[in-house]
Amino acid sequence: MGSLIIKNGTVYDPINSINGERMDIHIKDGIIVENAGRRAKKIDCSNKIVMPGGVEIHSHMAGGKVNAGRLLRPEDHVKFVMPKTRLTRSGSGFSIPSTFMTGYLYSKLGYTTGMTAAMVPLTARHTHEELDDIPMIDKGAYTLTDGNWFIMRYLKDGDIEKCAAFTAWLLNATKGLVIKLTNPGGTEAWGWGKNCRSLDDPVPYFDITPKEIIRGLVEVNEILGLPHSVHLHANNLGRLGNYETTVDTFRVPNGIKTDKDRQILHVTHAQFHAYGGDTWKNFESKAEDIAKVVNKSDNAIIDTGNVTLDNTTTMTADGPMEYYLQSLTHLKWVNRDVELETAPGVTPFVYSPKMPTPAIQWAIGLELGLLVKDPWKVLMTTDHPNAGPFTRYPRIIAWLMSRHYREETLEKINEAAGRRSGISSIDREYDFNEIAIVTRAGQAKALGFAEKKGHLGIGADGDVAVYDIDTKNIDPGRDFREIEKGFSATAYTIKEGEILVKDGEIVKVVFGRTYWVNSQIDGKLKEEVLKDIEYDFKRYYSVNLANYPIPEEYLKRPEELKIDATRVGA
Ligand SMILES: [Zn+2]
Repeated sequence: MGSLIIKNGTVYDPINSINGERMDIHIKDGIIVENAGRRAKKIDCSNKIVMPGGVEIHSHMAGGKVNAGRLLRPEDHVKFVMPKTRLTRSGSGFSIPSTFMTGYLYSKLGYTTGMTAAMVPLTARHTHEELDDIPMIDKGAYTLTDGNWFIMRYLKDGDIEKCAAFTAWLLNATKGLVIKLTNPGGTEAWGWGKNCRSLDDPVPYFDITPKEIIRGLVEVNEILGLPHSVHLHANNLGRLGNYETTVDTFRVPNGIKTDKDRQILHVTHAQFHAYGGDTWKNFESKAEDIAKVVNKSDNAIIDTGNVTLDNTTTMTADGPMEYYLQSLTHLKWVNRDVELETAPGVTPFVYSPKMPTPAIQWAIGLELGLLVKDPWKVLMTTDHPNAGPFTRYPRIIAWLMSRHYREETLEKINEAAGRRSGISSIDREYDFNEIAIVTRAGQAKALGFAEKKGHLGIGADGDVAVYDIDTKNIDPGRDFREIEKGFSATAYTIKEGEILVKDGEIVKVVFGRTYWVNSQIDGKLKEEVLKDIEYDFKRYYSVNLANYPIPEEYLKRPEELKIDATRVGA
C-alpha cells in the first residue's frame, strides 16, 4: 500500500462538501491522511479534476449468467479485443468483457469499487471464482432471495425472526453483501410457466404475494441492520404500462424504520420500470411519474439503468422477462431454473437508435436522471450490460452535462423519442459536483460504505480518480465531446495509494477485497433454522448441505463486515 501526495488538483468530494476547490490529497499506507510526510511520492494534478474512486452499485460482471452470455455470443468477443501487454492479460468482449478485462476497463474509467448485482446462492462459488479473477477493484455480490423457498415459507408463516435468521445464514453461506430481489415471486412462478404480474398476484403453491415478499425482506434487512437497503429489481420489468406497478412498489415499505443514514429500499434500473402505453405503438415515457414519487418519497432511492443505444446482451434472474423479450425479438436465448431459488435468462438485444422503442428508452433513462431533483437519490448505472455496457459511462455523463448534446442525439435517433418523452423540454445540466454524487459519493452512501469509500476525507481508503479536464477552460454544455473524452480514461487511477492507471494505461495490477456481511445469529433461533435447513436440503436440494456454504478461505481477499444481529430472537 502506497504513500502519495496528489497536488493542486481541482477536487470534487461531495460527502465532505468540497466543490471544485484546489487542494492537495495525502495518502499514507493506503489511507487518506492529513500529512503523508516528506518522503511520499508526489504527483502534480494542476488543471485536472480529482474525485474519489468510482463506485459501481449495479453491474452484472460475474457469475453463471454472465458466463452463459459469453458462451451465447461469440460475435460479442470479436467486437472488442484487448491484446496482452507486459502487465495485463489479453481479453475480449464488448458487452460482456472477460473477467480480467472487466477489472482493467473499470480501472481505466477511474472506478475502484464494483458490485455484481445478482448472485444465485447455489452457484455462489462460481460467482466468487469469477470475482476473484477481476483485478483492480474492490468487490461484493448481491445474494438473490426472490424465489427462495425458505424465505417464502417463513414469510407466509409470519415468522419474520426465522426469516431474518435464515437470510443471515444465506448471506453468510454465499459470502454475499446485499439482499437482492429480482421480480419477487415471479421467478418461482416461472417454474410453473407463470409470472406475478401485479404486487398482489400470489406465487403458485406458496400463496404469498410479491408485496409480502418485498415488505418482509425490507423488515428483515432492517432487523439485521445491513449496510445497504434491500436492492430490488421490481416486478414487470420491461412491460408496457409497468410504471403503475413501480409507483405501487415505492409504497410497499411505508412505515418501516431504519437507524441507518440511507433509504430503506433501492429500486434498481428504474428506466426499465417507467413505461406507459398498452401496445408498442403507443409506448411512452412515464419517467415524470416515477421521478415525482422519488422526489416525494423518504423510502426509496433509484439507479437509472441508462440505455446507451448499443448492441448488447441482456441477462437477469428474471427468467419470465427474458422469455418475453426473446418472443419479441426472436433472437437466441437461454433460460434456466435454479432449484428452490431463482430462474435466470440471457438474450441479446439491439437498442437500434432508428427504432422508436430504444430511442424512447434512451430518453427515459436520462429523464430520470434529470427530473429527480436530489442527485443523492438517482445513481447512474446502465445495469451493465442490460441497457448498455458500463464502458459507456463517459457518454452518459456528457448527456447529463449537456442539453446541446441531448438535442444533437435527438436529431439523429428515431423521432418518437422527442414526441413520447419529455426529454426535449428539460434544460437541466449536471455540474461536476453532481456527477461526483451520481457516480461515486451517492453509491458509497447507499451501500453503507461512506466511512471508507466515495470520499476523500481523513480515514477513507486512498482510492482516487484524476481526470484530465481543466474546469476553468471548459464549458461542459458546449464541449461535451471533451467531457466524454476526459472521463473515458483517467490521468491517474489510484487504489490504496498506488497508481494503477497513468494516462489511460495500466501501470500496475492489484487485486481488491471482496466485501461480505457476517451477521451471525446465536441461540435457539439459530438451532431451529439450521434444523429446517438440514431437513429441506435432504428432501429437495440436489446438493448436500455440507457442500453449500463457501468458507471464507475460498475467497482471494475476503473482507468481512461484522454485523451484530444478536438482538434477533433474543
Ligand atoms: Zn441488473
